Amino acid sequence: MVTGLSGSGKSSLAFHTLYAEGQRRYVESLSTYARQFLDQLDKPEVDAIEGLSPAIAIEQRGAGANPRSIIATATEIHDYLRILFAAIGIPHDPETGEPLERMMPVDVVKSLTERPNGTKIILLAPLDPGVAEDIPALVRDLQRQGFVRMRVDGILLEVEEAEKRWPTEEKERFDTIEVVVDRLVLREGVESRLADSVETALQICGAEAVASLQIPGSEEWEDISFLTGFRNPKTGFEVPELTPRHFSFNSPKGACPDCHGLGSEQFCDPDLVVPDRTKSLQGGAIKLPKKGGREMSWKQDRVAGLAEHFGVSGEAPFHDLPEEFQNALFYGTGGMEVPMLLQSGGRSFLRNVVFRGICRDVERLYEETSSESVRGQMGRFMAARNCQSCQGRRLREEFLAVKVGNDGDGSGLGIDEFCALPIEEGGEWLEQVKIPDDREGTVRPIVEEICR
Ligand SMILES: [Zn+2]
Repeated sequence: MVTGLSGSGKSSLAFHTLYAEGQRRYVESLSTYARQFLDQLDKPEVDAIEGLSPAIAIEQRGAGANPRSIIATATEIHDYLRILFAAIGIPHDPETGEPLERMMPVDVVKSLTERPNGTKIILLAPLDPGVAEDIPALVRDLQRQGFVRMRVDGILLEVEEAEKRWPTEEKERFDTIEVVVDRLVLREGVESRLADSVETALQICGAEAVASLQIPGSEEWEDISFLTGFRNPKTGFEVPELTPRHFSFNSPKGACPDCHGLGSEQFCDPDLVVPDRTKSLQGGAIKLPKKGGREMSWKQDRVAGLAEHFGVSGEAPFHDLPEEFQNALFYGTGGMEVPMLLQSGGRSFLRNVVFRGICRDVERLYEETSSESVRGQMGRFMAARNCQSCQGRRLREEFLAVKVGNDGDGSGLGIDEFCALPIEEGGEWLEQVKIPDDREGTVRPIVEEICR
């Protein structure tokens, strides 16, 4: 029982404690593979919590979500969505829309069986060092799955031995932790066992298997790493093995590289540079100061030179000027040199000038200047818009092209498309999503969690 004054945070305390413990138990019940993706909460500082099932406790939320609000606003489900897309999403080529083909474990097996007969092979599955924070849980998990050895920082140990030697100090932490999946000697007829083991190794890590090899007659062991992923055989376009981080705009792995996951970008808006298009060039159509700003595209002599080059009148209203000229004025002449009569120190001289464009100069100055006042001045011509690379969808295009809920025919939904659905529709769609049999145990609870 929790007692205290009204508003003192009783339910929050109770809730957070239960949430932390509930999530910890849920995470423990997941496979090693799924677990490494979840940020585990610290074990709450209590002696025991009884009667709590290993389920996900959902955070306290306002009563009754509006059924017409879209999924994107229900932020608490994003963690589960990212796991879902990483687990069963099918990557497509963003250019052609074709589904990518998985690079198969059979390719790994083929490469290994090409070694000489008698080669000793230790097949290993790398683990994220983060999973080792709760080493007793990891050891229990490995033993339950029948693994007896691991390799930590290159040393082979029985799992119990590894647990005993596990460093308690952060700075002594092991850098590499691998599960020994199989040890075998290469000879005729070993292929199917090797194939099973490679598959197991790839399932544990989800992306990588390591084979440590000793060629007959050699003292040396050599490590070979096999990464799997997806590939378009026609174009060679590749996507790595999917992880939930690839669907997070907070992670550099997933975020659109141009807007860094913000979804928007700042740009110099031509409508702010020329707010009144009934004015002429000579009548002050361009709002930027004519003086100062050395070599800037908006300086009077340069604008006049460009107008002359295009045969454009300085007295005509701006909206009557040809589009070609307007484009060049804002975005430059594309590297082409234009002869211009420039003024400097009371003298005029003819120069061939690459006209960079007013908007390009404003953007560059805004980003690069160290002067607060110049930045403020340029900022008056800047506006925000959707990022042109991701159209505001915040993720890299290859991960936006990962679809769930189809058989590779392009009819599934990307994570952004799913998030744009109204909540009810999204729930119905999710319920009919096909889950591959081998992922059913891990993925079904996640689907149920999202549907709640
Ligand atoms: Zn972007």
